[in-house]
Parts: sequence; C-alpha cells; structure tokens
Amino acid sequence: MNNNLAILGGDKLITKDFKPYNSIGSEEIKAAKRVLDSGVLSKFLGCWDDDFFGGPNVREFEEKLANYFNVKHVVVVNSWTSGLICALGAIGIEPGDEVIVTPWTMCASATAILHWNAIPVFADIDRSTFNIDPDCIEKNITKKTKAILAVDIFGQSCDIDRIMNLAKSYNLKVITDSAQSPGVYNRGRYAGTISDIGGYSLNYHKHIHTGEGGILVTNNYKYCERMQLIRNHAEAVVEEKGVTDISNMIGHNFRLGEIECAIGIQQLKKLDSLIYRRQEIAKQLTDKLSKLKGISTPYVLDNCTHAYYIYPMILDTSVLGIKRETIVKALQAEGLKGIVNGFANIHLLPIYQNKIAYGNKGFPWKFNANTSEIDYNKGICPVAEELHDYSFIGYEMCLHELPDNDLKMVLDCFQKVWSNLDSLKEIDNL
Ligand SMILES: *Cc1c(COP(=O)(O)O)cnc(C)c1O
Repeated sequence: MNNNLAILGGDKLITKDFKPYNSIGSEEIKAAKRVLDSGVLSKFLGCWDDDFFGGPNVREFEEKLANYFNVKHVVVVNSWTSGLICALGAIGIEPGDEVIVTPWTMCASATAILHWNAIPVFADIDRSTFNIDPDCIEKNITKKTKAILAVDIFGQSCDIDRIMNLAKSYNLKVITDSAQSPGVYNRGRYAGTISDIGGYSLNYHKHIHTGEGGILVTNNYKYCERMQLIRNHAEAVVEEKGVTDISNMIGHNFRLGEIECAIGIQQLKKLDSLIYRRQEIAKQLTDKLSKLKGISTPYVLDNCTHAYYIYPMILDTSVLGIKRETIVKALQAEGLKGIVNGFANIHLLPIYQNKIAYGNKGFPWKFNANTSEIDYNKGICPVAEELHDYSFIGYEMCLHELPDNDLKMVLDCFQKVWSNLDSLKEIDNL
C-alpha cells in the first residue's frame, strides 16, 4: 500500500467506480412486463366502487406486506412522504396541535406535520442510537401536544416501548417513520408495527424499492380506513361510503400504480437477504474500524437488529487531534464515495427559522395561540447539533453494491488515513 495520503499528493487507493446498489432483477422485469401486457397500469377509481381500493397488484402487494410485517392493515401509497401525510391525517390532528419530532431525519418527517397546519416541536436525540430521546420528548410535552412522530433512523428502531408508555400517560398518538428500517426487529416485533401507525419508503435509495412508493402499516381499522380515504379523494366519496367523521378529510391522489406494486411483490421477497448482506458488511466494518483510535462504531440495542441504511460513526476529535472535515477530505481524496459529513438539523432550516410554511404572513405559527413562541433556535437540540457540526460521520451503505473486494478497499482507505494521522495535522492547521 502506498502510504502517502492522496490529499498530500500520493496515489489514491480507489480508482474505479463502485457498482451502484441495484436490487432489480429478472423477476421484477417479468412482473412489470406482465402488467404492461395487461394494459391496466392502474385500476383505482376515485369514486365509491370496488376499485376504490385499487387493482389486483395493489391488493396483492398489500396482503403480502400485511403477512410479512404481521399487521392487520396495509395501505400502499405513491411515496413515504405521502404516507406520512396520510398517517397524520388519519390520527385526526387539529390545526395548531403540536407534534413532537426529531431534528435528525429527512425533512419530510416534519413537513408532513405542517401539511395539516399542525406545529412540529423538535426533541433532541440519543447520542448512542441517533434516535429521538424519550426524556427530551417528555420535556417538550405541552397541553397542545397531540402526537409523537418517532423516526427509526439509519436502520435501527427507536426506543419504542418507552415512547409508547409516554404516549399512554399523556394520551398521545404515535407514528413511526421507519423509511430506513424495514424488516428490522425490536424485541421480536418489526420496527414500524408497534406504534399507532408506521411505515416504510419504497424510494429508489431504500433497501427495497419500486422507484417511488410508500407502505403504511397499522392494526387499527379506523386509521386504515381514513388513510385509504386520504389516498383517494376522500371528500368525494365519504358520503357514499357512509363515513361520518369528516374532519381532516381533504383527499389526495396518493395512489400507487400496478407496475410498482407488481415490482414491490418481488422486492419484498428479497428484503431479508438484502438486510442480511448489509449486516455482514457492517460486521466487517466494525471488526476493523473499532480497532482505530478515536472512532465509535454503531451501537446496536439489545434484542434489536440494524439494517444499516447508513453505517453511523462518531469521531472523537479530541483524541484524534484533527478536525472531522480534514479526515473526511482525506478519505474522499483516496477515492472513497459515500462518506456522510454531519447529518441533519432540520430545525435550523429556513422554513422553521422564519416560521413561514404557507404564504408570507407566518402561517401556521402566527395563526394559532402560543405557537408563534415555539423555539427553533440553535441550542434546543444540543446533542443533534454537536454531532452534526463536529463529530458525526456515516458511510452510506445504500449507495453501492459492496462485494468483498470493494469492501476491502473501503477498509483500506480508513486504515491508510488512520496510519497517517500525524501528516494530516499539518493540513488541519492551515
Ligand atoms: C426516504 C425518507 C423519507 C421520505 O420517503 P419518500 O418515499 O422518498 O417520500 C422520509 N423519512 C425518512 C427518514 C427517509 O429516509
């Protein structure tokens, strides 16, 4: 191995492009072709009819998902962002209600709340799992709190039992965003299935995908029915369907197509083996990286599994004596792609800093008693902020297929940078 770091003019370790992650095979192609041959690419009808619930592939996919996740009801939608909007509509929140959410997530987890003119309140995360911290949830509960939107970030379940207990004591609903954690266990149950409503993304980047799509799971028939209505023009059919509770019943077209569902049926069969492969890769990463100084490898909770959408790490920069940015640049200079530098502090996005979601007069915050006082300033989530600003790095496992020889190159990059930390100190001081 050439020991001269690429960032200091040496040869880079990785000179080829890794193969992009691709789980689509001949089964999916055949399934999609069968739908194309049938000519029926969507069978949904936006009026009260048997086809209100979609065509044969939609229904078969929903049934197979319900079996896999061991839940009573599944509603598939055209994205998980749509799924989050359905879930919040289903629990019946009122404008101005507060929903507690993590800042360490993809922005849609919080904007789904704004969609119903409700108010996101950000609670800090736990430093070992990166998931929302139940103690911080409790501190943020007010009279206006209606729900908790917990995220199972990077592939590991949040502390759902404590969250459900909190919800019980304060009479709150819980939604889980398990977009990055399908097929992951929390004490023998699938992440996403323990809360009132949960679900998964079928976007191209996720473990299994249909291009775009989302999966809602619940054991509550009332929620299922409301989500089916929101998916398909609720206001137009509530009367014929005989639905009397029509609050928060603005419908959408969130319908997922027949081709996507036919592909999804094939993808679901692969989910367990795809997760298993990620766990094997993670094991090799942990075996090697845990021996390097100043780096914490992922912490997996007892009786839980991890699906490693991202392989999360924390750098102890005081032990290393080097800034995170310098280490990341050195790894990237070796040709390593997929290093995540910090992650998300969505409370600091302009939409929250300016408190304007609709129009330009501060809606919905200024139009509800007390909600204009909600604090989104830097400092409200110190753990998430410190990790984002200084010490978190991740490896985006969702990016590439990683056969063992590619994985070895990834490990070599870390090894090489860590063997030459002293030479990095010069750059750090520039
Ligand atoms: C991907 C993702 C979403 C959004 O899902 P889409 O299907 O892309 O709309 C929401 N939350 C999290 C945590 C995600 O990773």
